[in-house]
Amino acid sequence: MRGLVYSGINEMTIKEFPDPVPEAGWVVVDIKATSLCGSDLGSLTNPRHNRNLIMGHEGAGVVSAIGPGVTMAKVGDRVALFHIIGCNKCKWCMSGYPQFCTVDRRALAGVEQGTDATKCLVKEENCLPLPADVSYAVGAFIGCFAGTSFSAMKKLGPPNGMNTVVVSGLGPVGLCGVIYAKAMGARVIGIDSVKIRLDLAKELGADEVINFKEADVVKTLKDMTGGVGPDRLYETSGAIQAQMNLIMAAATQGIMVCVGFPGHIGDQGDAKVLLYPMIGKELTIRGSSIMARQNHYEILDFIKAKNIDLEKMITHRFKLDQIIEAMELFATGNTGKVVIDIDE
Ligand SMILES: [Zn+2]
Ligand SMILES: [Zn+2]
Repeated sequence: MRGLVYSGINEMTIKEFPDPVPEAGWVVVDIKATSLCGSDLGSLTNPRHNRNLIMGHEGAGVVSAIGPGVTMAKVGDRVALFHIIGCNKCKWCMSGYPQFCTVDRRALAGVEQGTDATKCLVKEENCLPLPADVSYAVGAFIGCFAGTSFSAMKKLGPPNGMNTVVVSGLGPVGLCGVIYAKAMGARVIGIDSVKIRLDLAKELGADEVINFKEADVVKTLKDMTGGVGPDRLYETSGAIQAQMNLIMAAATQGIMVCVGFPGHIGDQGDAKVLLYPMIGKELTIRGSSIMARQNHYEILDFIKAKNIDLEKMITHRFKLDQIIEAMELFATGNTGKVVIDIDE
């Protein structure tokens, strides 16, 4: 089998590996689609990064081998991969949140080998059944950003036709939020500075967009909402300034959900600026981490009921041999979702 590793700082190589052999409770999935995620980029410049680790955590494919005792998947099953592997016994794993596992938590491309490869070894409970009418690319999305956005929308109410949802940051996580919020009936305002992303947000359902490099974001959001401010705020960029802008613009008793980690550890923003409006306007501000594993089924039902085609977020597709070129393009920020199709 072959997979993409970060062989040095800003250096990528496709390497040969022995085919994985599944032990009890584990399965091998032949990857059919893997997609590039903003979080893939950070490790590229990390000097402590494991040079033998296959990257990628958004994958879907077909089960090709199962270990002893496996009952949740069988050879030939189409599956999307949930990319956090937990102990499957603690209270968080049992409630579908292996990302909070305190016993044995491992991430694909973090500890275990990732999905930018022809094969991937995962635990059976990480295989989310993928119906025949849902593409492998969409399956790859659900295990990461499409699940993250869905879970965040649920925490925003979910929003409905009486809400104005601001989506801050129009990378794939934000664009997916635009699609969901629009399908849920809300008015949607997108914020970014990259033209292709602002255009894509409008195509995917944003009613209005704001280029934060050209406009006073807080004033514009207030102006767009009759001085009241938006009442549902979805922050995906992780930029401190963006988080502060949303808090300042938020309507009284607004709800804000953040999924973007602040870019620099130690850069905590101005707590005073954040807390005064939070208390004064009775804001609800909370974080959201990926999704509950069972959200998979809700997402499938929702996108089917609302006739949502998440493939519309894809701007570029490549083969595995072109993945380095794909990563270089993705790193420029001038893309929507980038998918690697694998058929070998
Ligand atoms: Zn991801
Ligand atoms: Zn656990």
